[in-house]
Order: sequence, then C-alpha cells, then structure tokens
Amino acid sequence: MPEIALTAQLVARFQSRFGEAVALFHSGLSPGERYDEWRRIREGKAQIAIGVRSAIFAPFEAVGVIIVDEEHDSSYKQDDGVRYHARDTALVRGKQSDAVVVLGSATPSFESFYNSETGKYRLLALPGRIDARPLPAVAVVDLRKKEDWVRPFLTRSLLSAMEKRLENQEQTLLFLNRRGFSPSLLCPDCGYLPHCIRCSVSLTFHKKLQKLVCHYCGFQLAPPTACSQCQGVRLVHLGIGTEQVEEEIRQRFPAARVARMDRDTTQKKESHHKILTAMAQREIDILIGTQMITKGHDFPDVTLVGVLCADLSLHFPDFRSSERTFQLLAQVAGRAGRGDRPGEVLIQTFQPNHESIAAATTHDYLGFYEQEIAFRKEMGYPPFCRFTLLLFSHSEEKRVVDRAAALLKEIEKALPPPKKGETERGVTLLGPAPAPLMRLRGEYRYQILLKGKDQKKIAAVLKEGLNSWKRMERKGVRLEVNVDPQNFV
Ligand SMILES: [Zn+2]
Ligand SMILES: [Zn+2]
Repeated sequence: MPEIALTAQLVARFQSRFGEAVALFHSGLSPGERYDEWRRIREGKAQIAIGVRSAIFAPFEAVGVIIVDEEHDSSYKQDDGVRYHARDTALVRGKQSDAVVVLGSATPSFESFYNSETGKYRLLALPGRIDARPLPAVAVVDLRKKEDWVRPFLTRSLLSAMEKRLENQEQTLLFLNRRGFSPSLLCPDCGYLPHCIRCSVSLTFHKKLQKLVCHYCGFQLAPPTACSQCQGVRLVHLGIGTEQVEEEIRQRFPAARVARMDRDTTQKKESHHKILTAMAQREIDILIGTQMITKGHDFPDVTLVGVLCADLSLHFPDFRSSERTFQLLAQVAGRAGRGDRPGEVLIQTFQPNHESIAAATTHDYLGFYEQEIAFRKEMGYPPFCRFTLLLFSHSEEKRVVDRAAALLKEIEKALPPPKKGETERGVTLLGPAPAPLMRLRGEYRYQILLKGKDQKKIAAVLKEGLNSWKRMERKGVRLEVNVDPQNFV
C-alpha cells in the first residue's frame, strides 16, 4: 500500500480476519518491532505481509500473490538512499517466484495500462462502483469569471454549495493540491501557461534570473509581458495555501466546524488518525486538505467535494503532470457520495478545456489515456522511452554547472558513434538544466537527463559516465543517479 497511516481501516479488516497471520511493515515501527515481524515471517508464523514499499522484501520462502494497491501512486518510488520502485520490484519478485502480481487502481499509471494494451499484462476490469452506486456528478467552475469570486479562490458557486451542505448537516471536503505547485506565470484571462517549445512541459519562473526556464533541456525565455494566446497583460504568479483558505472559510462560516489536514497539521504521531476519526464521527463539517485527504477514506456523509484550483498540479514541470492531475481529481472526486446520498464535485479551474480536467469531469479514463498516450509517443516520453536522471548539487552554483557540463562532455565521448545511415545512437542527453527545485537546503541543483528506448544502452552509457565521474575532479559536487525518475524535483 502507498501509505499505511491513512489506511488503518484496511489493516484492521485484515487483522480481524486473519489475526496472527498478518505481519505489518511501515516506517512507524521501531527496529525491534520490525525484526519481530521479519522473524515471524521467517518462522512461517505469518503468511501475509502488509506494508508500504519495503514490504516487498518480506522474507517469504515462497510467494503466491503480490497485490499492489493504488499502483499508480508515486510514493511507491523511493527517491532517496536506495532508490527503487516497489511496483516494479513486485513485478520482478513475482516473476522470480512464479507468483501472481495484481496491480490495482481506478486510475492506472499509463505505463501499466499500456502494458495491458500490448498484452504484457492481463486487464481485469471492474466497471461499476460498489453496490452499483452512481458516480458523483462533477461540474466545472470557471475561475476566469472574476464576477463569481467572493474571496480568493472561493467562488459564489462553491460557497453556495457548501452552505447547502451545512443546512443539510452533510460534510464537505475542500481539496487544494499545494504540493504540485511550482512558481509559474499564468494568464488569468485565458488560463494559458508558458511551455517549453521543445519539451512541452511548463516553464518555471526563476526570480534571480528573471527568466522562465525549462527543467528538461535548459531552454530559457524572458517572461512575456503579455499572454501569447489572448494578449492579456495581467500575467500572475499563483499563490494559494491551505492555511489562508482555512482562515477565509472560518470567517465566512463562523458556526461551522472547520479542520485542516496537511503536512503542517499532521506533524505529530496520531494526528492523522485524530482528524480522520473526528471526520468519521461527524465532528467536522468542512475538512480542508492536500493530497492526504484524497486517499482511500470512506466518509459516507461527505456529499460535496470542492477542488479549489485544479490547475495547480498542471503547472508542475513534469511530463506526467496531466496524468497526475487526472488521477488526483478522480481520486478526490471518488470521496463524494460514498453513502446513501448522492455526491457532488465542483472543480474550480482556469483551464476548463484542459484534457485532464475535462476527462475527470466525465470520468473518462480511457478517452484521456488514448489522447495522452499519443502525446507521449509523439514526444518520446515513457512508456515509449526510459529516463535516467543525474542530479548535481553543491552550495556554489558555478561549481555545479561547471562539473555537470564537464561530465556531460565525458558522457558524450562515451556514447557509441552513430552507425552508418543512423542518426540515433540510442541515448539522448538533455541538459544540464536547473532542477525544478533549483535551490534546496542551501544547495544549488542541476540535472542531466539520459533518454533512450533501451534501458541497457542507457545503463552502458551511465556506467561509462560514472567511471569518468570517479576519475575526474569533482570539487565537492555531489551526484545522485535516479533511474526511471517518478518526480522531477
Ligand atoms: Zn491569456
Ligand atoms: Zn525544454
């Protein structure tokens, strides 16, 4: 499972059915507790392991079934220390043990769905919702219509829908995807956002440079003074936070019981659990939150889900940003109407015609997939190619840029010469470009992307590159290698 703190319900169900046969693996365990669970499996006392990504290494002699729930979730990729993707590891372990691997999701990753289309995986479809409940009605609120705004990002449409819930004593979830936010310029008149002409990912604004920068190829652009689509001159930086929204909501609905769930309010152990319990016991009327509120919860009295600004995750300079946005919207929409009363979802956006938002409103995974997979094919993005990311960091920017460029040169030398009549050598190098988070903990970060159809070829080039890196003067610059990166940060 992607996250165990948020799925206590599921664990409890397994434990009540299978008791001692269940071993649990998650980051909340002490080393001693972890060892106990490990030993219970070794001794054959536990036959079921439930846990986050590391559970894939449970020491079973023979594995029969591996179930990866919410297989599209990017938290399956461990991005520090030993890097691995638990879903991909599950597939390898399944193959080695001759086990069945079940990847479950209402919004499968495009890599997995593509594999089901090409016959590599078998597709098992569950077309209906449980108890044949109808899918919630999803409506779009156009944020470009400023006359509908009452307070920042709170429109008349959303506020009146919330009022109705308070009168009926039903619950509301307000979702703000803050994590996907990165500084970008947006035209509030038409929703346009500057993209790299070569890479089709959004450009990120760098204050110091006063430039819009592409984080894949390094392309730079002076920030335009007018929108290239509608000539509007009010280009704005989007800034919105859950705390600010909470304040506005409290002022607007002083009698309502309001709570917030995000990284700031869930620092303490058990705080997740407390908020979720209060929600389940109907002690909260309006819950405002980030990604955390989108996962697996089952609150039958939630009849309204409001998405404050669906565009935020579209701004992330990542070729998966459309896919992620669709997944998020579908997940959060799925929180509405899980009880007897039907649910309603309001998605506020500057880009109501954007394909991932339009698809989320019509629950059209397949249509969206087909459109997006064609784009990936055209651009040469996964699943049609593989990426390996080299991330360089140091407190002195010059050094990082200099060392990254020096290694790039070495790698270019190591690339196999093009064969006669062939232009493509199997591996393309992109960068060095500033990382989307160009400064992190006082360090500057730059990256080089290795891109190719054949992972073996990429690995061969990478190996040469790393050998050069060992030999050359590194001047204290740190290099991290990320194969199949899931987050470009
Ligand atoms: Zn515009
Ligand atoms: Zn680019």
